[in-house]
Amino acid sequence: MPELNLVLLGPPGSGKGTQGERLNEDLRLPYYATGDILRAAVRDETELGRTAKGYMDAGDLVPDEVIVGVIAERIDSAEALDGFILDGFPRTTPQAEALDAKLVELGRGVTAVVLIDVGDDEVVRRLGGRRTCAANGHVFHVDFNPPKEDGVCDIDGSELIVRDDDKPEVIRKRLNTYHAKTEPLVAYYDQRSVLRRIAGESPPDDVAEEIRRTLATMRLEQDEAV
Ligand code: AMP
Repeated sequence: MPELNLVLLGPPGSGKGTQGERLNEDLRLPYYATGDILRAAVRDETELGRTAKGYMDAGDLVPDEVIVGVIAERIDSAEALDGFILDGFPRTTPQAEALDAKLVELGRGVTAVVLIDVGDDEVVRRLGGRRTCAANGHVFHVDFNPPKEDGVCDIDGSELIVRDDDKPEVIRKRLNTYHAKTEPLVAYYDQRSVLRRIAGESPPDDVAEEIRRTLATMRLEQDEAV
């Protein structure tokens, strides 16, 4: 089986996390979500967390040089030899260039970039109602996926909170940041013929199925090209 070096691209709230976790189970490849890595670092009060916290709370990106090192180390690890799933990275052109450079150094390249397409209004609806479990990050939604008991995580019983960066003014800032800094990556990867677009406003099962079909088709095309 050829390696699969996969990038999930899309605005905040597009479902990259939900789909990434499914792909992680289906494909048995390591799943690296920079947002989760950074939130864990903030919780553990590591040096990385202390550097990142202010940027995250404000809805800004952490500096490229901070996050590039975090990801480079992971894709260069033994567990990622057959491939990996990236969620939330790259988010800027310099990050995409750094990822390419690292993969070239390893004799590899990005295999596929799945763009999960979701409009701004839907993003605001999704993130505005999102509630996150304080202990382990389990995710609920007041309308689409409500917990059995208000404000309490079904899975571990801990308190459900609104993430600082899911507050309305910060959501708008994150969307602006996405359009300004991350959206240029759509063209970047399209030019390299690895971009695949997925309609992201359908139910999660349908989105998962479309991603599965898209990756299977890509595999067939690659096999034929060999
Ligand atoms: P996420 O959970 O992916 O929405 O990420 C939450 C926050 O973490 C973002 O709003 C950024 O502040 C920070 N972050 C995550 N990934 C990156 C990245 N690749 N580059 C810069 N900042 C990032």
